[in-house]
Amino acid sequence: DRALQQMDPELGDMLYRERERQVRSINLIASENFASSYVLQVLGSELNNKYSEGLPGARYYGGNAIIDEVEQLCKTRALAAFRLCADDWAVNVQPYSGSPANFAVYTALLKPHDRIMGLSLTAGGHLTHGHYTSQRKVSATSVYFESMPYTVDKQTGLIDFDGLRKQALLFRPQLIIAGASAYPRLIDWQAFREICDEVGAFLMVDMAHISGLVASEQHPSPFPYADVVTTTTHKSLRGPRGGVVFARKHLEQKIDDAVFPALQGGPHNATIGALAFQLRQVATPEFKQYCQDVVANCKALADYLTRHGCSLITGGTDNHLLLWDVKQEGLSGSKIEKVCEMASIIVNRNAIPSDTSPVSPGGVRLGSCAMTTRGADETNFERIGSFLLRARDIANHVQSRSGKKLVDFCKCLSDADCPEKEAIAEL
Ligand code: PLP
Repeated sequence: DRALQQMDPELGDMLYRERERQVRSINLIASENFASSYVLQVLGSELNNKYSEGLPGARYYGGNAIIDEVEQLCKTRALAAFRLCADDWAVNVQPYSGSPANFAVYTALLKPHDRIMGLSLTAGGHLTHGHYTSQRKVSATSVYFESMPYTVDKQTGLIDFDGLRKQALLFRPQLIIAGASAYPRLIDWQAFREICDEVGAFLMVDMAHISGLVASEQHPSPFPYADVVTTTTHKSLRGPRGGVVFARKHLEQKIDDAVFPALQGGPHNATIGALAFQLRQVATPEFKQYCQDVVANCKALADYLTRHGCSLITGGTDNHLLLWDVKQEGLSGSKIEKVCEMASIIVNRNAIPSDTSPVSPGGVRLGSCAMTTRGADETNFERIGSFLLRARDIANHVQSRSGKKLVDFCKCLSDADCPEKEAIAEL
């Protein structure tokens, strides 16, 4: 925007360059997406200016009649998007993001030092599921609560429910968290419910990554089984950055009190408005088609890589992401991430089950949400697969010799007339 450029050339330039970067690159970050211009418009609207501590109809500030309408609309649409009945389920749309949403649930349902169990970080869990290391308690969720992670079967990469059950019978957690940041398969919510019932624990489902797929019925719904369900709103759901907590009706008051006043202050009303817009889109046939495409594209990429000898954790994918085990090929996830970034392919290194620490992980996480939003189809994703294989070959090369070919590769991808194109294509 020209006026902004004039007012603040320094920041304006950064915004310009970031927009260019986003347009130019191939985004395979599994937790990212491109929000629509409408979502961005509401995010930048006057809703930003209003303070509205409290809930619709019960605020601590005047002037909230319209904000009440916006938040109520968002809540109604959130329940509708997941086919929930307001008699059974409550929803709080105020959490600032996924991490605060999760912390709100713990605050609501647990006492300090109660016990929680979540999927370990190296197996695909999230920091807020109780992460700690042998050196320190990394996440506040492991400082204020006693955490014991469960994990996946090292051979299959699938959640080890037998192991989880045995641990839970010993550890007796008050709350078990189901859900992940890097798990490529469908999650069996019922199996979690049964273990929770056996040990008397709450079942919290964190569907942050897959909430779009749940809404569009590309992944089984956790709602028949969970006590509470949290989600971010900016991943497969494709909304503004934010967080939501759904809770069984009898837990509503506790969750609401935990979000405000226990943890947060005034809600981010522009975010809530933008989310209301997106939740209307989520209920459309177009969004359902989008999510079908997300899954089909991810499978196409997985099949391509597998056909070309790559090893994927669990052998493939059922959802929007896959985990590529590059350790098997003598590489590190960081190296692939770096080589790809030099060619404007954006991926992230990720721990895989055989890693003992997330610091130098042996995997790469690849997701299909963002590029599907940009219109990429299965053929495009196979092409992307071929770029990734070339990046892998370059990374192998860099490992043994100089960085020269790496530079060639990047030039080749960004410059159609690159003279070395043919040679590099054969790498
Ligand atoms: N839960 C899961 C499963 C996630 O993957 C993430 C983020 O990637 C979060 C929670 C936290 O969300 P945020 O980064 O918005 O705090």
